[in-house]
Amino acid sequence: MRAAFYQGAKTFTTGEAPVPVPQADEALLRVRRVGICGTDLHIYQGHLDHRVPTGGVIGHEAFGEVVAAPAAGGFGPGDRVVVEPLWFCGRCRACAMGASYLCYALKIRGVELPGGMQEYWAVPAARLLRVPDALADDQAAMIEPLAVATHDVRRARVKRGDRVLVFGGGPIGALIALVARHHGAEVAVAEVNPFRLGLLETFGLTTVGPDIDVQRFVADWTGGEGVDVAFEVTGNAAAARAVTDVVRVWGTVSIVAIHAEPLPFNLYQLFAREVHVHGSRLYAREDWEEAIALAAAGAVPLAPLVSRRIPLEQLQRGMEDALAGGPFMKVLVEL
Ligand SMILES: [Zn+2]
Ligand SMILES: [Zn+2]
Repeated sequence: MRAAFYQGAKTFTTGEAPVPVPQADEALLRVRRVGICGTDLHIYQGHLDHRVPTGGVIGHEAFGEVVAAPAAGGFGPGDRVVVEPLWFCGRCRACAMGASYLCYALKIRGVELPGGMQEYWAVPAARLLRVPDALADDQAAMIEPLAVATHDVRRARVKRGDRVLVFGGGPIGALIALVARHHGAEVAVAEVNPFRLGLLETFGLTTVGPDIDVQRFVADWTGGEGVDVAFEVTGNAAAARAVTDVVRVWGTVSIVAIHAEPLPFNLYQLFAREVHVHGSRLYAREDWEEAIALAAAGAVPLAPLVSRRIPLEQLQRGMEDALAGGPFMKVLVEL
């Protein structure tokens, strides 16, 4: 079978590998689509070399079909599935608290463990979720990032009538905005990429472009009070510096982006307005279930977020294009 291998910073190769042999608790999947994510761009640039093995197979946003599955697992050949790409110990403090997605020994398939950028993939049947027939393959491949968004919106306790500002209108920021709006919030998204701004506007979302001062926008929008919830989804220092300045008294700041380096953050506003700040990472099982329900109900538009499909052999090129910030939202690898 074909697979793409990470060979160190800025280098993917495509080659042949044996079809994985599933263990007793594992299903064998025929992979159909794998999304390229911001995390994958960090991997591509070598930022996660302490976690990703040389020769490793990345890809944690996968959709596929079951080829074979353990009899007791509830899945059989032909089932369309997505994969919760997490390995957790089940015994540590985080796992015992119900936060197994933050297990102290957490391993992610597509980071530390083999991911979906290969034609066949062996994964535990317990980590599979069924995809409703109503969802096309491209939409199914968007369930993983949608589960990130449902998790982020749930953790930030977004309520009907809230004003929500999302810094960053890439796939995750867009999905957070759409889920928050579905929950009854008024949403605005700050973004710099003109293609993404245009796409967000086709969904009827309010956008804050690069030539608009975010703080002034929020002051006008909220009568000087500040938004109820602000999400930081850019990974950008300017957004991290601004995010605490736009939130109301007792409001909430959610840090979703990966900030690999410490950077200036305005703690005075946290003090002055008693702002709540939390991180938001990955997802729990219930977030996947909500994501699948929202997708199946058509509550969140997924198909328009898929800008391109590329073959596995073009993974390297796809990474370069994504880093260049071109006219696309989500790029999927089609196997
Ligand atoms: Zn991802
Ligand atoms: Zn654990």
